[in-house]
Parts: sequence; structure tokens; C-alpha cells
Amino acid sequence: MAGAHWYPAYVGLGSNLQGPARQLENSFELLDAIPDTRLILRSSLYRSAPFGGIEQPDFVNAVAALLTRLSAMELLAELQGIERARGRAQGGVRWGPRVLDLDLLVYSSQEIDDPRLSVPHPGIAERNFVLLPLAEVAPDLTVPGLGRVASIAVNFSEPGISLIA
Ligand code: ATP
Ligand code: CA
Ligand code: CA
Repeated sequence: MAGAHWYPAYVGLGSNLQGPARQLENSFELLDAIPDTRLILRSSLYRSAPFGGIEQPDFVNAVAALLTRLSAMELLAELQGIERARGRAQGGVRWGPRVLDLDLLVYSSQEIDDPRLSVPHPGIAERNFVLLPLAEVAPDLTVPGLGRVASIAVNFSEPGISLIA
């Protein structure tokens, strides 16, 4: 059930199967179609080397800025619904290949520590493929517990990531 207020939320998108760039383009539309939610900005697409030591194709990553009246938990459920609709297999390998991964990176100024949902997403600080697109859409965003996005992103001298489009 939607609340009265609109909150900013940032979603990290990733894909390395079945036409990753097309998967992400399509996902931006699906994010905009979430009830009580608007897509405000989308980053460029970035290509990044796989993470976590598993042999697999390169990833395409991006970040979406949303405004939503859903709670963080409701938004997570919608993101998981989109992942399933795009054919993401359940119970796949963590950090393994996937058609679509949608992570809730930041939700307003909230800090959530729940087994189903950690916000801000715990991987932000050490992931170029999150920080670079996030810095493109929200350089002045303060990530609770971490600081200003542009300041964290600047720490990466060898990003291992390239701009696609
Ligand atoms: P990582 O979370 O390190 O990027 P992953 O994206 O591969 O790894 P998944 O298999 O997609 O991990 O998700 C595992 C679980 O993480 C999900 O079932 C979900 O409940 C939980 N989760 C916790 N915090 C978040 C968050 N901020 N965004 C998305 N899922 C989250
Ligand atoms: Ca992820
Ligand atoms: Ca995920």
C-alpha cells in the first residue's frame, strides 16, 4: 500500500546473459511501470569484468534513480518480481551469471538491517560498477554510513569498467 510521501530510491542493474544491454534497456521501462513509482534518471550503460572469481561473461551495469511511494520492502518485492519476470532462475550462484540483477542500493536516508533487505546495499563502497553509474546520476547523494557518492567514487584509480552508451 502506497504512503503519502515520495521517496528517492536508487537501483543497481546488472546482466550478463541473453543480451545484457537490451535486458537493461527493457528493465528501465519495467522500473518506470512499478506502481506508485517513477523512473527519474537512468545512467549510461557500463561494461564491467565479473566479480567474485567465477568464470562468466562480462556484465553490463547501470543505475536508475526512482521516486516512489512504496516502502523499501515493497519496492524490493517489485524488483524481485521484475527479476522473475525476466526469467532469472531462482537459487542461482551468488555473483554468478544472471539475466537480471536488481539491487536496492539506497532508499531515502534509511538504514535497514533485515535478513531480506540491507540498505544501503553493503557492496556499494567496493564496487566500481555501482559507484560509477551512481556518481553519474547522483554525485551529491549522501549514502548513509558512507558519505557523498562523488567522494567515494573518486577513490578508484583503476576502475576495470568502461562506458558503453
Ligand atoms: P549482492 O547482494 O552481493 O550483490 P547478489 O545480488 O548476487 O549479491 P542475490 O542472489 O540477487 O544476491 O540476492 C540475495 C538476497 O539478497 C535476496 O534474496 C534479497 O532478499 C537480499 N537482499 C538484501 N539486501 C538487498 C538489497 N539492498 N537489494 C536487493 N536484495 C537484497
Ligand atoms: Ca547484486
Ligand atoms: Ca541481487
